[in-house]
Amino acid sequence: MSIYLDNQAAKPVDVRVMAEMTLFFNEKFANPASLHCDGDIATDILEKSREKVANFINAPNSSDILFTSGATESNNLGVIGAARRLKKKGNHIIISEIEHISILNIGKYLEREGFRVSRVGVDRFGKIRLDKLERLITDETILISISTASNEVGTLQPTAEISKIAQEKGVLFHTDAVASESMIPIDVQEVPIDLITLSSNDIYGPRGVGALYLKKGVRVNPIIIGGGQERGMRSGSENIPGIVGFAKAAEIAKKEIPQESEKLKILRDKLIKNVLEIPKSHLNGHPEERLPHNAHFRFDYIEGESLILTLKEHNIAAATGSACSSKTLEPSHTLIAMGLLHEEAHGSLLVSLGRTTRETDIDGLIEVLPDQVKRLRKLSPLTPSDLLKKYEEVK
Ligand code: PMP
Repeated sequence: MSIYLDNQAAKPVDVRVMAEMTLFFNEKFANPASLHCDGDIATDILEKSREKVANFINAPNSSDILFTSGATESNNLGVIGAARRLKKKGNHIIISEIEHISILNIGKYLEREGFRVSRVGVDRFGKIRLDKLERLITDETILISISTASNEVGTLQPTAEISKIAQEKGVLFHTDAVASESMIPIDVQEVPIDLITLSSNDIYGPRGVGALYLKKGVRVNPIIIGGGQERGMRSGSENIPGIVGFAKAAEIAKKEIPQESEKLKILRDKLIKNVLEIPKSHLNGHPEERLPHNAHFRFDYIEGESLILTLKEHNIAAATGSACSSKTLEPSHTLIAMGLLHEEAHGSLLVSLGRTTRETDIDGLIEVLPDQVKRLRKLSPLTPSDLLKKYEEVK
């Protein structure tokens, strides 16, 4: 069995969620669009599930939730759909320099469609520069899209302040809440947000299902055209087993987030404390205002990829950064935006904890990591001779 510490890339489906879904594959499998009794049963479960997902973020109406195929689609529908809908009002959109790759690429796509897209910067901890954000807003600005937390370095963003700025300026605010939704409660009645991207897997539901929350009165142009399901904004027969699983996962998460984030924070802090004892190691992101299940490190003189492969040999699964950007050889756009040099941005290790993480997993990593960092540094031409000498002395 491997030690799995890559929960931000994928999470296991909770067994309670799996149990809830089974019936809807081959017993209660009807299409909610059908007019017969079985279709009515499917409609009933679809709407009950919508209520549970709405309740997860304290949305006042279940109809505020549109089901999609996942976070990438929700980001596309939320940002492209809102931009196209508001095109007559203005053509300027603001995202941040450290968004998930799906939002970054949507930004480039909208530029090709004639929109002007600004990218607000962050400070050295990865926090959005609110002063810069405010200055970027013009009469042409129609939408701001900034995630609730960095999916890489874990820094929490000032979502309430961004929401206030957006409201004052009459600009829509979309947030991708995927990185934080399993750890930080969302309450749209407390912090008003116009559009929110949610993913099922990130709260231990099945993959291939997600949602877009739309505040009452907010509409988006559909990007998938078909039979007009989901209030005409997202066509295609609803994925009922997936939606049932997502709803169960949301119900569980709503109840368990407080204890779970407390538990993971303790394990995460133990990890950080021990890892930072390794010479020339650093924690990326904000030291306190960060996701409770995220630890993102940097080790001078070695490459993140070599470290991941070394850990793999010890049956430990971790990452260098976002799984969705792992195939590029470019250094992380998030670390570069935070002001790190290219060579610094290459030595990263992203450890993400989850519901199944035990203290023994953290101990396992703590046991292996210092020696492996030392081993790789001994092989690296970048390691300075005084550090190598120190390593020889303690042998
Ligand atoms: N947004 C964020 C913050 C993510 O981490 C991910 C990947 N888990 C996505 C969007 C895209 O999710 P998916 O690949 O499930 O569509």
